[in-house]
Amino acid sequence: MVLTGFPPASIQTAAGPPIPVADAVAVAQEPDTSLIEFQKDIVLRLTGGKEVVPGSRLPDRSTPENRAMVRAYLSSVLEAVGLEPRGHRYRENGESVYALLPSTTHSDDLVVVGAHFDTVDRSPGASDNATGCAAVLAVARGLSALPVRKRNVVVVLFDEEERGLVGSRAFAEKLVEEGKRVVAVHTIDQMGWDGDGDGAIELEVPYDGAVDLYRRAAAASGFSGAIHVTRETGSDHTAFRRLGMPAVGLTEEYRNGDTTPHIHQSTDTWDTVDFEFLAGTTRLLEAAMGILLGEGKPNGRPESGHRAGGEDRQMNQVPVVPELSPRDLTSNRGVFPIPHAGGGHPLSPL
Ligand SMILES: [Zn+2]
Repeated sequence: MVLTGFPPASIQTAAGPPIPVADAVAVAQEPDTSLIEFQKDIVLRLTGGKEVVPGSRLPDRSTPENRAMVRAYLSSVLEAVGLEPRGHRYRENGESVYALLPSTTHSDDLVVVGAHFDTVDRSPGASDNATGCAAVLAVARGLSALPVRKRNVVVVLFDEEERGLVGSRAFAEKLVEEGKRVVAVHTIDQMGWDGDGDGAIELEVPYDGAVDLYRRAAAASGFSGAIHVTRETGSDHTAFRRLGMPAVGLTEEYRNGDTTPHIHQSTDTWDTVDFEFLAGTTRLLEAAMGILLGEGKPNGRPESGHRAGGEDRQMNQVPVVPELSPRDLTSNRGVFPIPHAGGGHPLSPL
């Protein structure tokens, strides 16, 4: 995708007042070529296409030794974009990498954006999930440059997703233990395949308001692909939803079938990744984060906030949404149904 010119100061929607998009615009003005170069370097280093640390190339990100090198590399990228990398060590050989971007307005609200960095044995894991890591790191870079953040952000690269969401479950528990007021969790898993070239993505089990957020983000970022909604629970977002946090997963068209045929195989290599697709969806994610960070209230009590593990824990109230057709959610036109919270949708066992 190529962005031309500057987006307007606000987006006029069919169904409401103009949406200020200044914060989203701030991260959307950079040319896509530099984003693609940034992300391509990350994906190559994570998948053996380049050295991940001096002298070492990764065949996979599965063994303890390889994952230790990955953590060192991810930490170096977080440092390079101006953040302080931290480790969340939850068991022997189990450690996620994260960084905090504090609110500039003393908000208590916390937004989480994450992706898993591990792979199954003997897969270089380009689409699954070096692409998600590259998306999160690019968003970290963009958000760290924002002059105003009305909410706190944690960017996190999870360990051991492939072994049953182990790292994300431990991280969700940590947020509960710390009493964080988590207003949104967005996780990305497999964002490198667009075989039919339509640019479409899927939102997995979106929380109340997430579909509308991405509709606005599509308008703000120039994202033109369809946004489908699915009930897929097999990734890190589920770990947070289980503990009552509003969560959503982002992925290529996994349920629709336009998804990497190389998943969990030795052929999930960097040269199968569609970097323009990855950059376009990263812009969308950045814009969504920009909107979330532009609307927080200082020390506010937002109606939508969920104190992790607190009284308003909603263990089983997973939003149930229809599997929508592409036209329902294409940006800038049509009707955009908001998912309703409702009980009864079963979580897949971990
Ligand atoms: Zn994955």
